Amino acid sequence: MWLNSQFFQHIFGYEALEDIYESLQNDDHTEVVMKLHEKLKHAPFEWHLEKKSVEKSDACRRQGNDAFKSHSYCQALIFYNRALCYAPKNSRSLILAYSNRSALLYELKEFKDALKDIKMCYQLGCPDDLVQKLKIREEKCYQTKRVNDFTESLHKIAASSHTLLTLGPSPSNEIPCASKMVKLDTSGVRPKVVASENIDVGTVVALETPFVNTFNSDLDAYRACYHCMKTSLNLIPCNNCCLVMFCAENCEKESLQTTTFFIRLPADFCIYMLYLAPRALVKFALRNGMKHL
Ligand SMILES: [Zn+2]
Ligand SMILES: [Zn+2]
Repeated sequence: MWLNSQFFQHIFGYEALEDIYESLQNDDHTEVVMKLHEKLKHAPFEWHLEKKSVEKSDACRRQGNDAFKSHSYCQALIFYNRALCYAPKNSRSLILAYSNRSALLYELKEFKDALKDIKMCYQLGCPDDLVQKLKIREEKCYQTKRVNDFTESLHKIAASSHTLLTLGPSPSNEIPCASKMVKLDTSGVRPKVVASENIDVGTVVALETPFVNTFNSDLDAYRACYHCMKTSLNLIPCNNCCLVMFCAENCEKESLQTTTFFIRLPADFCIYMLYLAPRALVKFALRNGMKHL
């Protein structure tokens, strides 16, 4: 089902896809994974992978400043995150991008998050000319940090989206991810799930963690963690590419471990993992106990 992705057809062409489908006929899933990996190794990748660049980072930061000035705060956040992604490691551009994002978060009254970005500037070795400015902002953050209970609770909900949906009464014995309100009916030719009682409109009858997930659009890469998909206002840029961000260093580490499957592939792997199919391939291989390909 996941092979039906545009990714493989786009990269390998229809014939290769047929070849992979053929291996799916076999019960030995290892063969499918090996075949896919083989195809990936010889894939004619033509993507232009951008390099970290001070100029690009500074340009994005300036665009962020313009958006900030015109009160387009969502736009500004995306531009500052882009500036972070383009900024080379240990560069002044990286610190400036964090600093400007902290100003935006301060403006949005997201004081805790603004303080996190300010702290990051200090950790990165903030130059003297900036320290003064940041100290003032930091002080203001502490002074005005009156966290409204209401927004605080909204944040909690946003941080754990699973709490938005709760499964209806007690889980079913037959279907672990479903409520008792549905049951498995095997009386017909094909088994089906049917209601076991009257169900009120809006009741959640099944809740399942997706096997794999990815972003809907390129912009989501600047709004959520590339690895765990959590949204965060303090995303940190990937060290290897200009494409994605992480919610924390451990997510970047875990993501790297997962993608070492493809270490022999050219350039940075983040771009491939933006597609659902390679994500599924890695998850599938891991689940089947394949540590190295
Ligand atoms: Zn994460
Ligand atoms: Zn990357």
